Amino acid sequence: MMESQRELGGSGHACSRCLKEQATHHICHFNDGMKEHLELCDECAKKWNKSNAISIPDLRDATCYYCGAPAVSGGINQVWEKKVRGVDFHFTCMPCIENYSRLFLKRIETISADLPPESQIEEISKVIEVIDKEVRSMAARLKN
Ligand SMILES: [Zn+2]
Ligand SMILES: [Zn+2]
Repeated sequence: MMESQRELGGSGHACSRCLKEQATHHICHFNDGMKEHLELCDECAKKWNKSNAISIPDLRDATCYYCGAPAVSGGINQVWEKKVRGVDFHFTCMPCIENYSRLFLKRIETISADLPPESQIEEISKVIEVIDKEVRSMAARLKN
């Protein structure tokens, strides 16, 4: 599942959703720490906006999951993240999402791709729990 997010970077000019139409919209957003680039046609961009509309109005009032600062990015928690965090959305300020992404990329490499999917999810949950704690204490240190 991590791989498919990375592949969305796509070099071609075809829409990355339907793979048929010419891409006319370039969308860049953070999906829970992973930067996603989407190249979409008109039709798919409309659908994308609709499916993401839920997080856009929420973001204005949202505060960072780690430090309570106004959030600049938000993503929907995956099932295993929800288990660790107990909330549906993962809102973050800029410094915290940067810390999170850096730690996440470093730690995720330690998880073997040879593990069966259930074990990988188990491992990812543990990694997220550790990283969440680290990002929170980094944010607390900055404040003091
Ligand atoms: Zn399309
Ligand atoms: Zn923060």
